[in-house]
Amino acid sequence: MDEKKLQKQLIRITAITVLSSIILTLIGFGIWGYTIKSAYEVKHTQLKVEAVEYKARILKQMDKNMQILTTLSKAYEISTITDEPERLEKSLMATNSANDFISMIYMDKSGVGIMHTPGFGTWDNVTLDECNEYSAEAIESALQGENAVSKVFESKVYDGKLFVYAVPVYKNNEVVGALAASDTLDIFKDISNGNVIMNGSGYIHLINSEGEFLVRSQNSIVQEMYNTIYEGRILSDETKERIDSALKKGISVSGEYTYSGEKCHFYIEPLGINSWFLFCSNKVSDSIFFASNILTAFGGIMLVFVIVVNILLYSGWRIFNKNTKSLIKIAYSDPLTGAENTARFDHDFQIIQSERKKFSTVAINIHNFKGINDLFGKNKGDYVLCYIKKIIDENLKDGEFFCRDTADLFYILMLDTDEAVITKRIRKIIDYISKASLAYGEYSYELSLYAGVAIGGDREKALVAMQSIKNTHHTDIAFYNHNMHDALRRKNSIESQMYPALQNREFKLFLQPKFDIKNNRLIGAEALVRWQNLNGSYRYPNEFIPLFEENGFCIKLDMYMVERACEQIKEWIDSGITPIPISVNQSKLLFSDFNYPENLMHILDKYNVSPSLITLEILEGVANNNLERLNQQINALHEKGFKISMDDFGSGYSSLNMLYQLKIDELKLDRGFMRKAAKEDEERRKVILEQIISFAHKLDITTVAEGIEVQEDKDMMLSLNCDFGQGYFYDKPMCAKEFSEKYMKNKQSD
Ligand code: C2E
Ligand code: MG
Ligand code: MG
Repeated sequence: MDEKKLQKQLIRITAITVLSSIILTLIGFGIWGYTIKSAYEVKHTQLKVEAVEYKARILKQMDKNMQILTTLSKAYEISTITDEPERLEKSLMATNSANDFISMIYMDKSGVGIMHTPGFGTWDNVTLDECNEYSAEAIESALQGENAVSKVFESKVYDGKLFVYAVPVYKNNEVVGALAASDTLDIFKDISNGNVIMNGSGYIHLINSEGEFLVRSQNSIVQEMYNTIYEGRILSDETKERIDSALKKGISVSGEYTYSGEKCHFYIEPLGINSWFLFCSNKVSDSIFFASNILTAFGGIMLVFVIVVNILLYSGWRIFNKNTKSLIKIAYSDPLTGAENTARFDHDFQIIQSERKKFSTVAINIHNFKGINDLFGKNKGDYVLCYIKKIIDENLKDGEFFCRDTADLFYILMLDTDEAVITKRIRKIIDYISKASLAYGEYSYELSLYAGVAIGGDREKALVAMQSIKNTHHTDIAFYNHNMHDALRRKNSIESQMYPALQNREFKLFLQPKFDIKNNRLIGAEALVRWQNLNGSYRYPNEFIPLFEENGFCIKLDMYMVERACEQIKEWIDSGITPIPISVNQSKLLFSDFNYPENLMHILDKYNVSPSLITLEILEGVANNNLERLNQQINALHEKGFKISMDDFGSGYSSLNMLYQLKIDELKLDRGFMRKAAKEDEERRKVILEQIISFAHKLDITTVAEGIEVQEDKDMMLSLNCDFGQGYFYDKPMCAKEFSEKYMKNKQSD
């Protein structure tokens, strides 16, 4: 997984998501704004159109009434009816009832006339003074030769508002009188009833050039009963000025005002009569709502959709981001210490390589980490690992990195290539870590580390270098060289061959005799393994036993060798030969297995061999571990009847005290004791050997001298009272068949 690529992708996805959301939102707002504006403009235009239409309707109606009067006037012109009061009265009555006028009047030039009001009768000699002021004005205008419509007035007779149409009556092209008819405001009924225009969202009023309401809609947007449109500070000063100017000029004007927090727009259209104007108004919000209710719903759905998509995208992105981050974390880090893991190390390593930087890879490990876990528990082991992580972390330079592989194996990439510098830096780290000594009861356990360095090399080479000093406690830092790789190749080759070799019985039983030093009698043999290659050549134990100890294969091989020893003993017994005990070398790994005694018995039972014929040789190093546990195991083996021998005593750090503590049966003195010392130390060597042998005897432990090569060795061991001897002086290890031929033939029982 390439984290940087993934992060780039994440950033790209995020940017695209955010950008498309912004664009989508902007487009949405744009469409929304445009739609609102369009709806507003459409409604405003509609307001104008409807006002003009309404005006046309009113004018048409008024024109019709005026036409009736004009036609009647023409009739009067060509007749003598105006001179005949009775006919004139009848004519007025007939026209009145046919056209639903409230009253009709004919007035001659002198200002005297006849008036008929249905339901009230006819008045003669009515003068202008008796007429309503506004109707008198209209009649006077007609007498001046003009068609006229009066202003609206409150009638004294009729309950309601009226206005008057008046036309001149001619004779011989001269005005001889005026014909007038009063009418109700039915014509403006839509206004006064509060009926609305624009499908119910607008209201209309009739005003004059002073802005006074002539006919006021009952359902006006403005609730207060103001007399003029200028009252109540509803219109802004600027709007008032514009309206006033337009009204004076008799032209149309439009604009906006705000009432009760709601925006409204208005349109004023001149009626063309008496400086009357239609004042139309509606609420912007209403109009837009009505105009765009479908769009509003659609827009709402769109908005919800965009929000939901964005929320989904955002939460999806967050989940993706979180998962990716935790996946990267899991994939690239070590959960225990928080350090990075080898996958991350190798990824960063490739970058360092591609940048052609100078570097070294360091592998670092604790000696016997398993022992720490066993001794102090897993938690303490984990603590040690975290502590190592912390120390390495604190000792890195800029650009350097490290990781934990498995268990206690750490790798560091250092940007140094000088051996001395690297050594100094590693030693500093090792010293810091070693200081964190662990307390075990009253003892303290000091951590000891070792490291392998590959200058310009990878983890594998650093590991090879490190493993080359795994079992040496005197060196703590090793630098990689080619020979190490050969050793590793050999190791790999052996490891790949060991299992098939065991299956194919390539591991052969060799026996080396053991003699009683005093009388040279054969008292037993030691089983020594030889790995016979397919070409017949042999590999010796020192080539593979240490590796098998390390990888655990020794457990299998040792049990196999016990079986081969039993097989041999059985063969002797079956051939009528009195068997001799065989000592078998046993790995210390076996001693920590609780089932070990039982497993051994399985093999012995299979060949019907008595445990007294098998001696188990353990290396003195076994005793470095838990003595109590070891004694338990020895006891269990004793109970079965096995003898226990301690091998190579004196080669390591064994002490006589340990002899006292361990319940062994035999002590094999390491062949190192046979090597002659300098003259002045010769006496010391003998004293030590004598002491060991005598101490062993006191504890009922028999002694075997290993590596007796010459007569002198044998004589010395005889003089020191050692019981048995083994070595080239007597004989070399040989294959079991040869051994039987050579040593067992004469042991034929009768
Ligand atoms: P060891 O158990 O101390 O075996 C004695 C070693 O000393 C043998 O080496 C033997 O050949 C060698 N030797 C005997 N007499 C003389 C002598 O006079 N002079 C000298 N210089 N050497 C002598 P070998 O067979 O190479 O075995 C080496 C070690 O390998 C053994 O030491 C033992 O620790 C281990 N080993 C051998 N076979 C097995 C096995 O089956 N299982 C295990 N776990 N270890 C084994
Ligand atoms: Mg041995
Ligand atoms: Mg030995």
